[in-house]
Amino acid sequence: MSYPKLLTKVAKTRLARDWGFKQQLPWKLLVEITKVCNNKCLNCSIWSTPNKQFLTLQNYEQLFKDNSNLMWLSITGGEPFTRLDIDEIVKLAVKNCPDLKYLSIPTNGFWTEQIVKKTKELQKTGLELHITISLDGPKDVHNIIRGTKDGYDRAVKTFNALKEIGVDVRYQATVHKENFSIFKQYYNDYKKDIGVLTFTQTSETYYSNDNKVKPLEGEEVASLFDYLGENFELREKHDVFEKMHLKIASKYLRKKDMMIPCTAGFSSAYVSTEGEVYPCFSMPTWGNLKEKSFKEIWFGDMAVKERAKIKKKQCPKCWINCFSFQDMMTYPEKAAVKAFVGKN
Ligand code: SF4
Ligand code: SF4
Repeated sequence: MSYPKLLTKVAKTRLARDWGFKQQLPWKLLVEITKVCNNKCLNCSIWSTPNKQFLTLQNYEQLFKDNSNLMWLSITGGEPFTRLDIDEIVKLAVKNCPDLKYLSIPTNGFWTEQIVKKTKELQKTGLELHITISLDGPKDVHNIIRGTKDGYDRAVKTFNALKEIGVDVRYQATVHKENFSIFKQYYNDYKKDIGVLTFTQTSETYYSNDNKVKPLEGEEVASLFDYLGENFELREKHDVFEKMHLKIASKYLRKKDMMIPCTAGFSSAYVSTEGEVYPCFSMPTWGNLKEKSFKEIWFGDMAVKERAKIKKKQCPKCWINCFSFQDMMTYPEKAAVKAFVGKN
């Protein structure tokens, strides 16, 4: 990652958010390229959503042309590797965004051959590539949560295959009510390969699960995150953000409040497969790319009004790693104090 460029973008985010300076284009985009998924997770209904209208390559080319400030692209789904032109989409981003350095992709690891084939193409882009594979427990637990018979074996096979071709791949483990009782043991057994830890989230916009899933909360879950935060080992430089994320997560779970300023809509945006542009999974859409350009949406009246709400904490106040990382990167000193100083 180019640190001077990143620092400039971060500084501009703070100036715009805290002092009303000119708003820049986002430096991180989370792009949902498909709602198709080959798992049927208990906690997520993306796989059952009827709306599978995808943006075309032309739509993506225009999106990236409009986002010359982009430094970090996160491609998500559904299962992102079910979209056969995933590598073409990323190549369009590389072609049009000169500062783009960092590509992250979460996958369920189910379709090994396709994931390996497309990852080899993605490696050719020269981006710093990080792939996380969901693994939510030992075989029987994982397969129940993910609604598959052999999802565990496939995820492990994909993990090993990606390692073999030199990819920075880690497991992402989510705490659900179905694995809660065994999670500590599971974490201890697999921790050398687990890079991301999170807890069940709800969002009608993204997971389509608001009415079906009760978010995990309470002291027991917070204590589990205390444990995970304490025991998470730093292996790469960027792991310090994961450790801070975990330590802040336990405080968030106790207070259900924003722990550091949220930069959603200032540093980053989420683009859905239907072309809606959102600041995050929980706030209303700012507009659709099939009707307006990204720049019109990002600098439009709705965006200005909603940014003021985010600044005043008039939002559902989440702590999700899709957004918390850019918050911690923008306010590292506040994140460090919140994570490492003081009691819970
Ligand atoms: S959580 Fe991921 S793998 Fe599971 S159904 Fe949703 S999109 Fe698919
Ligand atoms: S804290 Fe609020 S604005 Fe920020 S990502 Fe969460 S819901 Fe969205």
